[in-house]
Amino acid sequence: MEDFSFEARVLHTPYQKPDIYGALSMPVYNTAAYEFETAEAMEAAFCGHTTDHAYSRITNPTVQYFEDRVRAITNAVSVTALNSGMAAITNTLIALTHAGGNIVTSPHLFGNTFSLMKNTLAAFGVETRFCDLTNEEEVRDNVDLNTCAIFLEVITNPQLEVADLRMLSFIGKEFRIPLIADTTVVPFSVFHASDFGVDIEIISSTKYISGGATSIGGLIIDYGTADWSHSIPLKHWYEQFGSNAFTARMRKEIHRNLGAYMTPQVAYMQTLGLETMQVRFNHQASTCLELAKCLQKLAGIESVNYTGLENNPFYTISTTQFGIYPGAMLTFDLASREVCFAFMNKLKLIRRATNLFDNKTLAIHPASTIYGGFTEEQRKAMDISQQTIRLSVGLESIDDLYNDIRQALDSVK
Ligand SMILES: *Cc1c(COP(=O)(O)O)cnc(C)c1O
Repeated sequence: MEDFSFEARVLHTPYQKPDIYGALSMPVYNTAAYEFETAEAMEAAFCGHTTDHAYSRITNPTVQYFEDRVRAITNAVSVTALNSGMAAITNTLIALTHAGGNIVTSPHLFGNTFSLMKNTLAAFGVETRFCDLTNEEEVRDNVDLNTCAIFLEVITNPQLEVADLRMLSFIGKEFRIPLIADTTVVPFSVFHASDFGVDIEIISSTKYISGGATSIGGLIIDYGTADWSHSIPLKHWYEQFGSNAFTARMRKEIHRNLGAYMTPQVAYMQTLGLETMQVRFNHQASTCLELAKCLQKLAGIESVNYTGLENNPFYTISTTQFGIYPGAMLTFDLASREVCFAFMNKLKLIRRATNLFDNKTLAIHPASTIYGGFTEEQRKAMDISQQTIRLSVGLESIDDLYNDIRQALDSVK
């Protein structure tokens, strides 16, 4: 399949075993357990001497097929599918951190990721150092021999800040620290994270991959490029598995213990979503860019943020890394929180909902929702403004979206 383009590979990845009925759509194996002919075969499966499935918290044929497809189209060494984006982040960070270790990241993070680091992991002695990842000096000042990961979101949400991945990867290589990127906002059909030095890619497959927001899921994509030779928690895994140390510990210890493996029903829906992801993305992202340009000229909108706009401060680095369509999410600022609320309440077509990259266009006021549980001071530190509306652009026509925004703005004036 390697000779084919993304479009063909995403549709035609072969099954691990031919289906006995020749089913063209992937069968859903709704089973917790698997039966064995002999006690010996059972022992071999449970001890990992064969690739037979033993229990669906650990592996499942339908989920494995979803993982295989993602592996085939990303050229990764290994892919693990979990039951949410947060589970993917949690499993990853638990597999490679330890008490006394630290994570270097930005304060511009998805709300739960921020809380995971600041509260949950901190209780286990893992320190998080929040710094400006777009500033090379600051990153260098923060990494040390106890740094377990440099972690970032490739386009932060909702600030839409873009760090230079090659710069971060360069520092990572120098200190033998893996570069871990949450790439949820730009799909791997257009953005090849490993080309920019990302060692482990994490995706909330709830978003672009699932498509119509059918289900919650997460992916851990290991490119096998990280140097684990100095990792304290992966030391003995490294001796046995070398560059696969992370995935070995993930599959043999962490994800079994945390118990957040993807379910077969979700893997089925997300495999279907994956097949149409690129077509949907191209449509949504080009609408987003056009809409961003139109909204810049609309009275009542103070500013528009989308890194694909030529006047955006991150335009050059964004185009280098993501091409002309850096996702299908934009934000814009209105006069005040009150105007934002009034505007949201006047929308007729665009839905008031969280989530990203649904087929439907969604609007949210991040400060009062995703970041509602933080203090105003914490929100300031994360650059979350009360004036900002976030729009996730769906599959509607640009005219309908523009007209809905314009009528809502007109009616709050
Ligand atoms: C949604 C999201 C997550 C969390 O994913 P879930 O599937 O909701 O757990 C993490 N990171 C980013 C950037 C997201 O948008």
